[in-house]
Amino acid sequence: MKTIGLIGGMSWESSVEYYRIINEEVKYRLGGLHSAKCLLYSVDFDKIERYQSEGNWEKSGNYLAEVAASLEKAGAELIVLCTNTMHKVIGYIEEKIDIPILHIGDATATKIKESMIKRVGLLGTKYTMEQDFYKSKIEANGLDVIVPKETERDQVNKVIFEELCLGIINNTSREYYLEVIRNLIDDGAEGIILGCTEIGLLIKPEDAEVPLFDTAIIHAKEAVNQAFTKDGKHL
Ligand code: GLU
Repeated sequence: MKTIGLIGGMSWESSVEYYRIINEEVKYRLGGLHSAKCLLYSVDFDKIERYQSEGNWEKSGNYLAEVAASLEKAGAELIVLCTNTMHKVIGYIEEKIDIPILHIGDATATKIKESMIKRVGLLGTKYTMEQDFYKSKIEANGLDVIVPKETERDQVNKVIFEELCLGIINNTSREYYLEVIRNLIDDGAEGIILGCTEIGLLIKPEDAEVPLFDTAIIHAKEAVNQAFTKDGKHL
């Protein structure tokens, strides 16, 4: 089993889920008292959010690259960046490390393709829904991506930063998200990407009539898959 290096804290509400899922998955595979070998570097999200709203992606990229390098130095053999949004700066991180970093968009697209779905709706922060860095990764896998309309995107984004990242789970927001999901289905979405690692705290698979792809779960499980893979072979 390889040692997984987690870059978390964005927000810590979802990093907790990564830690839990990774350990549960290792226990499921190996049984008994087995648990995951992992290192968690949890950053101060206030600093990252500030860089985001200033559009200072270079600063956050350089900072997260330093974090990844320190995880590598501490013994991590692969890196998992526990947020969709900050994959915008994955290039800075890749340049700074010699170990693989597992892209959340690749892991998600692979999972969607297994279900033969062609058109997916994307929910996430406004950066993830409106900019190209994430959608292009999914589209490069031959999938069609649609996003909610502007007023809906604003509200979906607001709920992420003002509720979910603060651990606030609100029924009215859940109803709102479900309405946005229904509108995406009306526009032809056959599945929905929960493209923000906190959305799974609000919406569960049974809440919608199409498959929901929870990026935190998919990413964490794929990390364990990779931890048990050597030279392309499963151990
Ligand atoms: N965890 C979120 C995501 O998956 C949002 C927090 C962030 O902006 O990094 O995008």
